[in-house]
Amino acid sequence: MQIGLQNALSEKKYQLENFFQLRTLNFIERKGTYVQWTVVYVSDLSNVINEIKHQCHITHARNHLGLDDKGGFLKFCLNVTMDCDSLEQPPVKKKVTIGRERFKDSGVKKVFVIGIVPDIKENYHNVSQLILVAGISSIQFSLGMDIKIANIICWLMAHSSKHPCCWCEVSNDYDINETVIPRRRTLGRICELTTAYKRDVQAAAAAAQKMSPMPQDKMNCINMPLFNLADDLEVMDLAPPKELHLMLCVTTKLYDALSDGMKDDGDDSKRIESEHIIKKGYRGGSMEGSKCTALLKKAMDLEKELLDKYKIRHYGPALQYVPWKKKGHR
Ligand SMILES: [Zn+2]
Repeated sequence: MQIGLQNALSEKKYQLENFFQLRTLNFIERKGTYVQWTVVYVSDLSNVINEIKHQCHITHARNHLGLDDKGGFLKFCLNVTMDCDSLEQPPVKKKVTIGRERFKDSGVKKVFVIGIVPDIKENYHNVSQLILVAGISSIQFSLGMDIKIANIICWLMAHSSKHPCCWCEVSNDYDINETVIPRRRTLGRICELTTAYKRDVQAAAAAAQKMSPMPQDKMNCINMPLFNLADDLEVMDLAPPKELHLMLCVTTKLYDALSDGMKDDGDDSKRIESEHIIKKGYRGGSMEGSKCTALLKKAMDLEKELLDKYKIRHYGPALQYVPWKKKGHR
């Protein structure tokens, strides 16, 4: 707990109260029936962002929206951060004092909830209700969310489908040696494929066909986009993969390969353990961020001192390409 945080929070408790409203909407419950819930939401998002910019002394803002269903609530969250790319000079470093000043604008302690509803399932209908009421089409933003919600928001079918990726049209049996790179998804193409799919379904119903059209023939696009954004906007740009997840996943894979390659040499294989880089046995066997960073910091040393002895030397340079936040770099 930071010194002064409690007082700072009490002081600011009701500062944004007037920006919030309530509205009762229909949502779909787990059993498939409709249920009414009251949503708490920000009625004018642009105004709230202006207020946050004013209070946090942010001149050039970047808005990042998050959608999640953790803690029994489906909610939209907002981070307003300084858009350093649009500044001519890097921002002056804030002098760290107490309470709120110690926290990053992009961190969880500076998240603003802009729309929240309790106890509902994350599906296309429910998410679309929250998107509409939160009025997010009035601002420029990037999106962050877990992959299941990303597929809902990208109007695609679930991860068990033939084309499960929200960023590209890769099929689930794609061979890594194939030379054709899967096409990246754009909002316009999702719209086009969904229209074609719905047209096929209607035609099949009119002709009383026994076999319904397969969503996989239309890259599993089954619902229309809800955001009114440019057709050529790639999903990759709208909702980029989370930096931390990319680092964790790639580093864990490389760590596994390293460990496998060195497992017959007792002394060397213990080297990584002795540096306190130990893989945690939870979350599907993934390493924590701090452990990944510890391994990545040693990538050059590992390449020079250790990997020469094995046929796995290429993992050294590979580790050096993994993106992670080095001190002094953005
Ligand atoms: Zn993909």
